[in-house]
Amino acid sequence: MQSSVEVFRPVIPSRLKRLLLPLWNGGHQLAWRAGEYAGAIRHRRFDRCAVCGRWGPKLYRRWVIRPELERRSGVSPLAVEAWARKESCDCPFCGAKLRARRIAEVLLSLDLLGDPPSPARSLRDWVASPRARALRVAEVNEIEGLHTFLLQLPHLSYSEFRDDAAPGEVIAGIRCEHLERLTYADASFDLILTSETLEHIPDLTAALSEIHRVLRPGGRHVFTVPLLPGVPKTFARARLRPDGTIEHLATPVAHPGGDWGYPVFSEFGADLPEILLNAGFEVDLMFGPVRNDDLCQVIICRKPRESIIPK
Ligand SMILES: [Zn+2]
Repeated sequence: MQSSVEVFRPVIPSRLKRLLLPLWNGGHQLAWRAGEYAGAIRHRRFDRCAVCGRWGPKLYRRWVIRPELERRSGVSPLAVEAWARKESCDCPFCGAKLRARRIAEVLLSLDLLGDPPSPARSLRDWVASPRARALRVAEVNEIEGLHTFLLQLPHLSYSEFRDDAAPGEVIAGIRCEHLERLTYADASFDLILTSETLEHIPDLTAALSEIHRVLRPGGRHVFTVPLLPGVPKTFARARLRPDGTIEHLATPVAHPGGDWGYPVFSEFGADLPEILLNAGFEVDLMFGPVRNDDLCQVIICRKPRESIIPK
């Protein structure tokens, strides 16, 4: 016969549990947030946010780079911290992460319509300025942290990728576009924005050619992609078979989970500027070069005024 062991469990009435749970969760969140603020103070992560313009701490979240993504990408612990800074260091007021704030900094510094750079000190002010409001802008896939501000631009064309939609189709009020087959006319935009998108496009050459086509001569594509140290040459992690299935050519990586999310087709390396030059752009790498302690570069591609058709 089995002997039964009595374990003492305090009996908390369910009504009391319901009362205590929000307190416990609230306390836990508060402690977590206090830790993030303490980290910002310890590492002197205070600056003016280029998106909302407010001065404040930047909250670092190491957990945004999941262990499986870290393992599959094979980057050093130092580089993973830099990657986590790129994907966090959030502004507590507007939520913009470092990657969004750097894109905003670049937008504030550019002479997008041939004017001198904007006197605006934040994206919030910039979108209200007449020169920004004159721009024809494409935001291809929502850029977290920038999107709500960009929506205020009168000539913004915002689109999302959906594999169940035809390019150009509007679903629930949102235009669907595929970077390999954009449905915009030639020379439609002064500025195209993408962030952490190009690595997920199966045919990179087609995407770059489409971006080049829909930019006006002199127009810019401002973007970020994952740039990891120690990758000298861009390589394909996967390719799409004619039947639409994925063939893996190297360790499969997906964002954001590593083993779940959107599959990575291109892993970009140090030759990225060369790839963009060959696609017919003039190229600037801002906040570069890629270093173990800074992986948050912003790339500016400009379609030359006297544009030659790319090979
Ligand atoms: Zn902010």
